[in-house]
Amino acid sequence: MARSITFAVKTSSQRANAASAPAPVALNAPTGVRRSIATVADASAAIGIARTHSYRVVVVGAGAAGQAVSHQLALSGFFDAGDSSAQNILVIDPSETHDYQPGWTLVGAGLKPKEEFRKPMRELFATSSEDAQGQSKIDHLQDAVESFEPEKNRIETRDGRTIEYEQLVVCPGIHINWAGIEGLEEALRDAKSSGVSSIYSYDTCSDVFPLITSLDRGRAIFTQPAGFIKCAGAPQKAMWLALDHWKQRGVFSPSDPSKGVQITFATGMPTMFSAPKYSKVLDEMRQERQVEGLFQHDLVKIDPKRKVATFNRPDGQSPLEKQYDLLHATPPMGPLPWIKSSPLAAAEGGFVDVDQATTQHKKYKNIWSIGDSSSLATSKTTAAIASQAPVLVANLLQALASDGKAMSVAAYDGYTSCPLLTEYGKVLLAEFKYGGVPKETFGNAFGIDQAVPRRAFYYLKKDFFPWVYFNSHVKGTWQGPKGFLNAAKLAPSSASSARSIHTASRPSISPRRFAFGNQTRTFSSSPATSRNTPARRPRDPLAVDRSAMHHRLPTGETFIVRPPPSAPSPYTSTLTPNPILDGIAAAPPSPALPPPIKPRTRSSVLPGSQPLTAQQILQLQALRKEDPLKNTASKLAKQFGCSPTFVRIAAPAPKEIKELRSSALDALRRTWGLRKQVARTEKAERRKLW
Ligand SMILES: Cc1cc2nc3c(=O)[nH]c(=O)nc-3n(C[C@H](O)[C@H](O)[C@H](O)COP(=O)(O)OP(=O)(O)OC[C@H]3O[C@@H](n4cnc5c(N)ncnc54)[C@H](O)[C@@H]3O)c2cc1C
Repeated sequence: MARSITFAVKTSSQRANAASAPAPVALNAPTGVRRSIATVADASAAIGIARTHSYRVVVVGAGAAGQAVSHQLALSGFFDAGDSSAQNILVIDPSETHDYQPGWTLVGAGLKPKEEFRKPMRELFATSSEDAQGQSKIDHLQDAVESFEPEKNRIETRDGRTIEYEQLVVCPGIHINWAGIEGLEEALRDAKSSGVSSIYSYDTCSDVFPLITSLDRGRAIFTQPAGFIKCAGAPQKAMWLALDHWKQRGVFSPSDPSKGVQITFATGMPTMFSAPKYSKVLDEMRQERQVEGLFQHDLVKIDPKRKVATFNRPDGQSPLEKQYDLLHATPPMGPLPWIKSSPLAAAEGGFVDVDQATTQHKKYKNIWSIGDSSSLATSKTTAAIASQAPVLVANLLQALASDGKAMSVAAYDGYTSCPLLTEYGKVLLAEFKYGGVPKETFGNAFGIDQAVPRRAFYYLKKDFFPWVYFNSHVKGTWQGPKGFLNAAKLAPSSASSARSIHTASRPSISPRRFAFGNQTRTFSSSPATSRNTPARRPRDPLAVDRSAMHHRLPTGETFIVRPPPSAPSPYTSTLTPNPILDGIAAAPPSPALPPPIKPRTRSSVLPGSQPLTAQQILQLQALRKEDPLKNTASKLAKQFGCSPTFVRIAAPAPKEIKELRSSALDALRRTWGLRKQVARTEKAERRKLW
């Protein structure tokens, strides 16, 4: 049955019509008014139509890139130091919802419902990044930017607003050109009869799996266009999972068309994947699984009635027509037309023209860009954005603090990642930097080859990445392989003295505030700790300890003595004669007590053992280097009869292992309750004074 499909980017005529509609401001308020959904009416007055407004930083687009950048800016503490009435960060985005797009591959594989990956845009700005007075540090305007005037430091919006900025971040994503393939939009409107679907939009991704399950026989074609697309691995992920599904059902029949399904992978690119290391493995997999490969074949036309797809071919060959029963289409993509025609566009390609390392615009030094809309020459993914955002934020804050005079402080190396689902339960985790050079997180740390599909990576893709996206990435506390981010570290050092301490808050739980002296700190809290607030008085252990001896003193007071945990020794003093207790009968120490505790030793050589020889130390270092995960400090200490501290000094763990452990510790910290957070923060502060 035919139905209408809404595509992500509106046409210019739609935008023109929308310009006459009332301004749909989402979440904004005049300075000094607490911003909340209830203050929407005030908000339209604050950023009213046909008025000029000024912000220190304006972020265009609140997708994966805009969310990370705006929240990291807010959490950096940089803006806490200045004038509290200044308008600091404004995010502009016309969309009412925010999607975790990598999840659409899982929807296409029947693994998750698409609703799981969509959140109302307001929710992402509602509880996060409030300052000490409870005001949101980010203003969110539901409007679309239409043009840039970089010489005047201002932008114009669809609804007629003019907004001035000190620094501008441009990340409105990529243009998906559905009309670039003749007949595609028509075919997608009626997936059931056309057999055509695509994981590349929220509306169509849920049509993919039903088509796969309903196919028992015939040719399935999976296409990928020439040129830049977001997540260039996604088209083949859809294919590998479909193949596995048909195989499990016993209907995959590559050599005999009469018995089941055959698969063709038709790509406008010359290889299976951009990074050579993974491309080789994937092509071997394609051949082994008997998938037909059509390289440099660009889908240009679909005839949904005849079920015929037409491909342009290289070297002047005539177009190829191919019959299909199921077609998974990936539309061509490119820069958004209004970006391409703007002064910010690169002459070649039309994306926002930025420096490959600093993410700063090559011509306009107060303009920055990351994500799909930028000219960064790497695979366009959320994983790449997680590494790009802290670089952009650190450099932008440096520019703000120095009025643009200081050099950039951080550099991006092109890191990107693509978890390639090769079957249900297995993922090949491609990670690489500029030039397709592998930069493997787990390969470096554990010495494993990430080109081999693994089960552990599957759970990263299916469960961990979606979780970390909504719980950390969009809140500005995730930086990809480097783990959780403390955005306060991104601010230039001159601003650090005024920073407040933030910890990542959990969804839908408002941060609680505590005053320490004249400072205010924010901590996340759990429902359990909320119930226990204010803190209960701890029980007196002496009053409940059964082994405690109660001495009634002549003065009427009670003197309570708890026996030591072991038999008396020269190191204990509790039971030494005490004049106060003279003449008072106390129970003798129990003969059943364990032997005295051994005195603590700081020596690297355990009592009774010999110092290690040079030969043994070399052997210890070799073992540690061979497998630092298996040969832990405590294991080697036992083996060589020395202390773990000695092992750590003589054969320290590699940097990657330390980083991995510290990321795991960071993750653990986020699960701490309110009291533990407070206690640990206090402890860390005290330690600084030592
Ligand atoms: C099917 C699929 C699978 C993927 N798989 C993976 C994966 O496995 N791993 C991975 O890391 N990445 C993956 N990606 C890629 C990843 O989702 C994108 O790279 C990422 O979302 C890009 O973020 P962005 O912020 O640059 O753009 P987007 O997330 O597209 O956000 C752009 C935002 O800008 C807004 N906007 C548009 N026009 C305007 C305007 N005129 N004014 C203001 N705002 C505007 C939009 O409303 C939108 O909110 C996948 C993508 C798809 C589609």
